[in-house]
Order: sequence, then C-alpha cells, then structure tokens
Amino acid sequence: MASIATVAAETGTAVRLAAGADEVDRSTVVGMVGGGQLARMSQPAAIGLGITLRVLAERADDCAAQVVPGTMVGAHTDLTALSAFAQGCDVLTFDHEHVPAGHLDVLERSGHTIRPGRAALVHAQDKAVMRERLAAIGVPGPVSRVVRDARDASAFAEEVGWPLVLKTPRGGYDGKGVRVVEDERGTADAFDRATGVLLAEVYVEFTRELAVLVARSPLGQAVAYPVVETVQVDRVCHEVLAPAPALDARTAVAAQHAALSVAHQLGVTGVLAVEMFQTADGFFVNELAMRPHNSGHWTIEGAVTSQFEQHLRAVLDLPLGSPRLVAPAAVMVNVLGGRRADLGTGLGHVLARDPELHVHLYGKVVRPGRKVGHVTLLGDDAGDLRERACEAAAYLQGDSDA
Ligand code: ADP
Repeated sequence: MASIATVAAETGTAVRLAAGADEVDRSTVVGMVGGGQLARMSQPAAIGLGITLRVLAERADDCAAQVVPGTMVGAHTDLTALSAFAQGCDVLTFDHEHVPAGHLDVLERSGHTIRPGRAALVHAQDKAVMRERLAAIGVPGPVSRVVRDARDASAFAEEVGWPLVLKTPRGGYDGKGVRVVEDERGTADAFDRATGVLLAEVYVEFTRELAVLVARSPLGQAVAYPVVETVQVDRVCHEVLAPAPALDARTAVAAQHAALSVAHQLGVTGVLAVEMFQTADGFFVNELAMRPHNSGHWTIEGAVTSQFEQHLRAVLDLPLGSPRLVAPAAVMVNVLGGRRADLGTGLGHVLARDPELHVHLYGKVVRPGRKVGHVTLLGDDAGDLRERACEAAAYLQGDSDA
C-alpha cells in the first residue's frame, strides 16, 4: 500500500485511517487562545463548518476580536483567565505557542481537551527540546547544543566552525531572538543581551527554505500539503511559492514523510508546519509550529481545504479535507508595515489593477515591518504570479506607487 505521504503527494487525496469521528453540531465550541491574524482567519472556516469559534485575546481591539463575537479579553499567561475561557469550550487550541506549559498541565488535569496537547506543544515552544527530540527520532537537523555562556559557545564553535547561529530557545518569532555570530566577540555580545541559556546551531548553507504543512487528527488520520518554498527577508517570511518550484519529487516526498512522521511521533493534533532548509543533498528541519502558519496562507484560495478549516477539522476529530492545490501554482506575499498607515487607501488601486488578486488585511495598526496582511494569486506561471503579488503588496504597504 502506498504511504500516506505518497498518496497525498500524488493525488492530494485525504486518507482516512480510522472511522468514528465525533458528531459535531452548531453548539460545538472551539476556543482559540490568542487574538492574532490566525484566529481572525479561522473565523470564516468556523462559519462554514457551522461551529462556534471563541477567542481569548489580550486586547479588545486585537485583530481576531474585531471579527469573533464574544471574544474574551485576558492574558494567555493568566491561569485564571485561561480556566474561565476553557469552561465554555469543547476544545482548546492556539493562535500562538506562548501559553506556559504549567498552565496547560493544570487545564489538562482539570479535564479540558487541548489540541495539540501539552506533550506535543512543548516541541513548538522550546527549540532546544525540539532539536533533542527530532535528533532522537532520526529527523535531520543542524548540529546544535545548549550553551550557558560565551565560553561554552566558543568551545562549540571550535568543534563545528564559525559562524554560529544563537537562538533564544523560547518565545522567539519572526527571527526575533535569532543571531548569527561570526566570532567570540559576537558571542559575548549575544550573551550580554540574553536572559538565560541559548541554543547554538551550525550555520546551515542552505540553497533555499522550504515548508511542509501537515494535519493530523486524534484518530490518527493525516494529510500533507504540497511542499512550498518560503522566501525570507531579514529572517521574516516574505513570499510563499506553492508548490516549491523545480523541487525534485524524491525530496518533496521525503520532506512530506518527515513532516508526517514528526506529527505522528510527537502526537500532534491539528495543523503542524515544518520549516526546512534545502541543502545540496537533502533538507534539515529548522522549526515546528503547531497551528496554522504563514507558510500555509496560500491554502485559503489555493487548496481544496484551507489550513484554517483543516485545523478546525483536525482538533474536532472530523475527517480531514483534501490538501490538493486547485491551480498549477499559488503565490502568497506578505503585506508588511511600510509607509502607508491606512492600508485601505491602497485597496482600490490594487483590486482594479489585478482582478485576480486575493487580498487579506488583518485590521492591525501599521508598524514598520509588522505583518499586517497578505495577498495571494493563483495561475500557471509562478514567476508572473510572484511579480504581480509583490507589486500589489508593495503598493498596499505604500512602498511603491506603480
Ligand atoms: P523564528 O522562530 O524566530 O522564526 P527561526 O529558527 O525560524 O526563528 O529562524 C529564523 C530564520 O533565521 C530562518 O528562517 C533562517 O533564515 C535563519 N536561520 C535560522 N537558523 C539557521 C541556521 N541554523 N543556519 C542558517 N540560517 C538559520
């Protein structure tokens, strides 16, 4: 029998491994902790499935709070707020990975259903834990070591060579907390700014960055989306090209297998994004996210089942949907905070210039470099889509007037 990854890669068909998913009705409530754009973009999927999405947001004007009725305001670090929020929810899930593990323990022990569960989620919360576990299950990754001080880091560099990548194990996102250091001075400087141990990694000379999105349900059904290329600018995701152009089938299937294997071995429920470095002879896994992910925004229009619907299906143990692309290519480009403070003032122009453009604006206050929206185009020629999508994003940002 063909493996799940092969079937998903070749036909894009969802593979049902077990029957008997719970019935879900309109009174079913999925609670999402965090009020960012991922929670916001989950709302249309919840509406479609006829379920109720609730959100715990830090502020009443967070971008999900603007579109999800009855959003509760509270901090994800406040156990009292989390417990009160969980009371009204059938399943708890996340828009980010920053809920303290101890709080998740308490919620799980009180009988709340949390997907992904605490035991899986820790691998997306702590890069050091993730590195150790992936190495133990044989998933390729950069050689790494937890280092306590500059001397420790320099000793590691003597073994593996400079430069090193030093990372804050917890709490980083969008490259915040990641530094490339060339020498002992750079390491000392990194530790001057650090508040604890750092994860030191070999600097990987990658040819490009890839990502694989998979989803897994509690019953063990799993699907893999096509492998995509992600293009980062200043360590922040800027473009996503689906499928990854000119990726050989062997590497694509191996990457999907690795991602499905991580989901299975770590017991992930929901969507899992696996970020990878493509190298001359294969790939290394860089990072895991256990929630819908920026590398999967293209699926809203570009796949049979969007990552947001897939995540809801998976956490509710409903049958998963097909991850198949609906066009030869899809390109997503992030809209980052630029010169235009009110993104709406650029909307008419980009919609008129390109009637095929899909625009998603997140309702966030514009700050330099902040992810405030994205655009997606589907078509035949990834190069053409990329050019048009980049032009539209630049115009919306106010960084181009063409
Ligand atoms: P974050 O969780 O903040 O997004 P990542 O670990 O994903 O941090 O790193 C952000 C970016 O930094 C990656 O997309 C990649 O471009 C670069 N990077 C991270 N680790 C390495 C590494 N070991 N070698 C080379 N570049 C790296």
